[in-house]
Amino acid sequence: MENSSSTPPTVDEPGVANTEQQIGDSAEQLNPYYIVRQQFDHAACYIAPLQRGLIEDLRCPRRLVTVSFPVEMDDGSVESFVGYRVLHNRTRGPGKGGVRYHPEVSADHVRALAMWMTWKCALVEVPFGGAKGGVTCDPKQLSEAELRRITRRYITDLGDNIGPYTDIPAPDVNTNSRTMAWIYDTYDITHPGDNNLPVVTGKPLDIGGSAGRELATARGCLLVTERALEQGVLPGLEQLTGATVVVQGYGNVGQGVAQLFQKAGAKVQAVSDSRGAIYADDGLDLVAVDQHKAATGSVVGLADTLTLTNEELLALPCDLLIPSALENQIRADNARTIRARLIVEAANGPCTPAADAILAEKGIAVIPDILANAGGVTVSYFEWTQNIDHERWEIEQIAARLKFRMVQATDAVLDELARINGNLDQISAALATERHKRVVPEGPLPPADLRTAAHVLAIRRIGSVLLERGIWP
Ligand code: NAD
Repeated sequence: MENSSSTPPTVDEPGVANTEQQIGDSAEQLNPYYIVRQQFDHAACYIAPLQRGLIEDLRCPRRLVTVSFPVEMDDGSVESFVGYRVLHNRTRGPGKGGVRYHPEVSADHVRALAMWMTWKCALVEVPFGGAKGGVTCDPKQLSEAELRRITRRYITDLGDNIGPYTDIPAPDVNTNSRTMAWIYDTYDITHPGDNNLPVVTGKPLDIGGSAGRELATARGCLLVTERALEQGVLPGLEQLTGATVVVQGYGNVGQGVAQLFQKAGAKVQAVSDSRGAIYADDGLDLVAVDQHKAATGSVVGLADTLTLTNEELLALPCDLLIPSALENQIRADNARTIRARLIVEAANGPCTPAADAILAEKGIAVIPDILANAGGVTVSYFEWTQNIDHERWEIEQIAARLKFRMVQATDAVLDELARINGNLDQISAALATERHKRVVPEGPLPPADLRTAAHVLAIRRIGSVLLERGIWP
């Protein structure tokens, strides 16, 4: 590793990070790490007692690595960047999670995203734990060469904190197959002599990428939604044909979601990006949307569409609202404006806990992120397996395997929901003897929602493996 101006990674105890200042001063707590722990604590109330202390342990990330490094910019100046990699839990296997480039990336953001990854991997039963990484930067202000230098330096400085059997990155917001190719190349150059392809997933096809990875998150979201509708999650709407759909965010995930839902028979009436939203009552011509975005960098301004703000898009009446952008889009202050019948969280963390409560009051179900966007990590697992075996699977095989896992995970969450809500009295009674801090009011527990059921299932699966392995030493 090169050094004079490099700061060595710092590793701290993320579970005991400070609170007040990081949580922010909004009336609603919007720090994602606060939110992810709130979701965890809520779900923990519905879990039969595990070994005392185990629940608290599952709440804490294992490791946070912080790197700070200089990068020479195109104009010859030097800028300093900060990057993070969090390993939340590796009970079920090596860490797995995307790399985000965004001005709002912080240690807490990455901690939260890593924790969601742990539950997601457990739900789709891929043998990974949860991890996440990111660099605080604004890719819109950076050239391709600058992004490449940032990536190479970030990965070099992470050193052996990532690896094919320890922690495996993937794409997330503002990173893509090109970024993954740089990650692979950097790791391979610094670790010669091994098959390093499985160190990162979401790579281009000709360097070990998997067929189906680009659209995997969107396809998984479609499969989960179709299955949930079939199983009656939205009474009166058993299939997508003719359903009206609104998609917030038009990147890796949102663009694929719009395409696949439309192909499945839904009418995609509105999409958006960070600059605003477009609407067409009869459904958008997505080929024209893609051409317009490729030409102008945004969906906004396409002929024969109405321009809306993102707030207006979220409030459109529709069957399905699919947030596919960033966290905290549906909050206490706007949840009452939502007129969708079902929300499918293709993004991570788009609904806050306060929004969840308001949506529940309004009778709007939410298919949670840890289930709805788990298709990406599922095909990442297929890519990792193919890389280890020096194999290449056909798209049909990948599609069939993805469908199997997404349907199984959806059914398992729905079964868990039925199990919890059918046994609320027993679960409440057991809770009375559990020492874990109770975050719901005294008395019988309220019925669980899909998010709680998904968390309960994931936490139970991880807790059970942890107990089987035994606590080291
Ligand atoms: P991306 O950078 O490719 O796309 C993000 C999109 O959101 C862009 O169109 C951007 O303009 C838009 N956006 C940003 N701020 C917005 C705002 N305030 N309002 C409306 N739109 C806004 O990112 P992505 O990879 O598509 O990821 C989107 C979400 O999906 C994230 O929450 C990510 O963690 C999650 N996710 C991604 C993957 C993956 O495989 N890429 C997998 C699972 C989950």
